[in-house]
Amino acid sequence: MSAVDAFDFVVVGAGAAGCVLAARLTESGRHSVLLLEAGGKDSSPWIHIPLGYGKHFTNPEVNWLYASEPQAGAGNRRIGQPRGKVLGGSSSINGLLYIRGQREDYDRWRDLGNAGWGYADVLPYFRKAEDQQRGPDEYHGVGGPLSVSDPSEPHALADAWLAAAEECGYRRNADFNGAAQEGFGYNQWTLRKGLRSSAATAYLRPARRRGNLRVVTRALATRILFSGRRATGVEYRRGGILGRATARREVIVAGGSFNSPQLLQLSGVGPASLLRDLGIPIVADLPGVGMNLQDHYTARLAYECTGASTINDVVGSLGKGLAAAVRYAFLRKGPLAMGSSYATGFIRADPASVTPDIQTSISLFSSDKAGDKLHDFPGISLAARLLRPESRGSVVIQSADALQAPAIRPNYLSAEKDCAVLLAGVKATRRLAETAAMRRYVVREHDPGPSCASDADLLDFLRLRGGIAYHPVGTCKMGNDASAVVDDHLRVRGIQGLRVVDASIMPLLVSGNTFAPTIMIAEKGADMILEHGDTG
Ligand SMILES: Cc1cc2nc3c(=O)[nH]c(=O)nc-3n(C[C@H](O)[C@H](O)[C@H](O)COP(=O)(O)OP(=O)(O)OC[C@H]3O[C@@H](n4cnc5c(N)ncnc54)[C@H](O)[C@@H]3O)c2cc1C
Repeated sequence: MSAVDAFDFVVVGAGAAGCVLAARLTESGRHSVLLLEAGGKDSSPWIHIPLGYGKHFTNPEVNWLYASEPQAGAGNRRIGQPRGKVLGGSSSINGLLYIRGQREDYDRWRDLGNAGWGYADVLPYFRKAEDQQRGPDEYHGVGGPLSVSDPSEPHALADAWLAAAEECGYRRNADFNGAAQEGFGYNQWTLRKGLRSSAATAYLRPARRRGNLRVVTRALATRILFSGRRATGVEYRRGGILGRATARREVIVAGGSFNSPQLLQLSGVGPASLLRDLGIPIVADLPGVGMNLQDHYTARLAYECTGASTINDVVGSLGKGLAAAVRYAFLRKGPLAMGSSYATGFIRADPASVTPDIQTSISLFSSDKAGDKLHDFPGISLAARLLRPESRGSVVIQSADALQAPAIRPNYLSAEKDCAVLLAGVKATRRLAETAAMRRYVVREHDPGPSCASDADLLDFLRLRGGIAYHPVGTCKMGNDASAVVDDHLRVRGIQGLRVVDASIMPLLVSGNTFAPTIMIAEKGADMILEHGDTG
C-alpha cells in the first residue's frame, strides 16, 4: 500500500463492530473501505473451536493482555483485561454467550436523550444480524450473518442446577432475549455447526472478496489526521513503518472500549488538561473521552463435583481428552463445543429492583482464576455478576506514544450499592449449590469454602478474589451532556468526518453480555452512515 491511498471510509479495528462496518459499508459496491487491524489473521484453530476460549487469556498473539491499575476496591490487585487483537477482535476470543440485555437498558439510553436507541428502535438491528437456530419470531431473526445456537446436548450438572433454581422458587426461562429476561435456562451461543461465529467469520469472511474492501492486518493506527476540525485520514504503523491513509468521507474508530478512547486522546481529542500535560496539540477539548468506564464485576465460586464429567476431568485425562476430540471431530458435540457457561439465571437480588440485577451462571469447569490451569478434581464454577454497576472508572493515556498501554482504572466496587447487591447475589448463588438437586453432585465448596460465612467474610472474598466479565463499555459515551463523546448518530462532538462505533459508545452498561449489543450498534451505525452520508 502506498502512503497516499485514499478510501471513502477508513475503519480502525476489525473487532466485533469493525467487521460489521466493513461488510455493510462495502455491500452496495459504491463505497471503498480500508479496514486496519492491529492484530493478525484468525487462523488458529483454537479460535474457532469453542473450548479454545480458555487458551486465549494469556496468548499475546491474539490478546492485548491489558491489566488494570491496582484496584483499591479489589484488594489492590491488578485485574487482567483481555481484549482480542486479531481479526474479529474480542469476538474471536470471547465466551460465546448470546445475551442482549433488558428492554429497559435500551429505553434508558433513549431516555437519556439518545433518539432512536430505545428497545423498539434497536430490536430490528438485533434481528437483522441474527441467524437464530430456533427460527424467527417477534424477537429473533433468521438469515442474518451471526449464527445463534442452542447447546448440542443438555448436561446433567446444568439440569441439576436448573432444578435447583426451581427448588429455590425461581422461574424457568427458555429465552433471555425474548419477552422477558428473568428466570433460569440454558444459554444460547454464537456458534455455527459447532464452530465459533465471530464477527470475522460471520461478517468479514463473506465480504473479503469484494474489490472495494481492503483489509490490512498488523497495522496499528497511531493517530487520526485532521485538517482543522475535520478528520481526513489515519496514520498507522506496520512492521515499524509509518503509513497514511486518506478518508474521503469518514474515519470510523472501532478499536473497543480501551483503544478507541486511547486513539482519540493520542490524536488530540480528549480532556484538554491531559492533552496539555502530555504535549499533545488539542483538536477538541472533550472531557468525557476515556471516562465513564463500566464493567460487570463478577464473583466466581468453585465446587468439587462427583457423578458427572466436567471439563476439568477431560483436560486432565489423555483418554477422556481424546474421546472428546473424536466426538467433536465427527459430531461437533461434547466439551469442545461448549461456550464459557452452560446455563444462566437472571434474578433480582435486591427485592426493590424492578428487573433482574444479578446474572448467575454455571460453567462446567473450575480454576483459581480465569485462564489458570483447571483444578485437578472434577469441578464447576457458579458465578454471580453485578448487572448494572454504579461504580465508574477511566482509561487514560500515559504518554503520547501509541505503543504504550493506557492506564485502566475501573474503580470496581467503589459504589456502596454495588457491594450490597453483589453480596446478595453471591448468597443467592451459594443457596443454589446447597439445594437437594445439587447436593447429589456437589462434594464441597472449594472457593471461598465453608469458613467464609459472615457478610464481612463474603465481602472480603468479593474484593480479594472477584474478577470481571470482560464487558468494558462507556468510554466514548453517546449523549448530549458535557461528558458525552458522540451524539446519537455516533459522530464525535465538535468534529467533522469522525465517528466512534463500538462498545465504548454505550452510555450505560447493558444487563447482559456485550457482543450482541455491539453487533447491533454497528449494524445501526452502518445504516446511519449510509443514510446520512458525510458527517461534514
Ligand atoms: C475473554 C472475553 C470473554 C467475553 N465473553 C463474552 C461473551 O461470552 N458474550 C458476549 O456477549 N461478550 C463477551 N465478551 C465481550 C465482547 O466480545 C465485546 O464486548 C465485543 O467484542 C466488543 O466489541 P468492540 O468492537 O467494541 O471491540 P473488540 O471486539 O475488542 O474489537 C476491537 C478491535 O480493534 C483493534 N484495534 C484496537 N486498537 C487499534 C488500533 N489503534 N489500530 C488498529 N486496530 C486496533 C483490536 O485489535 C480489535 O481487533 C468477552 C470479551 C472477552 C475479552
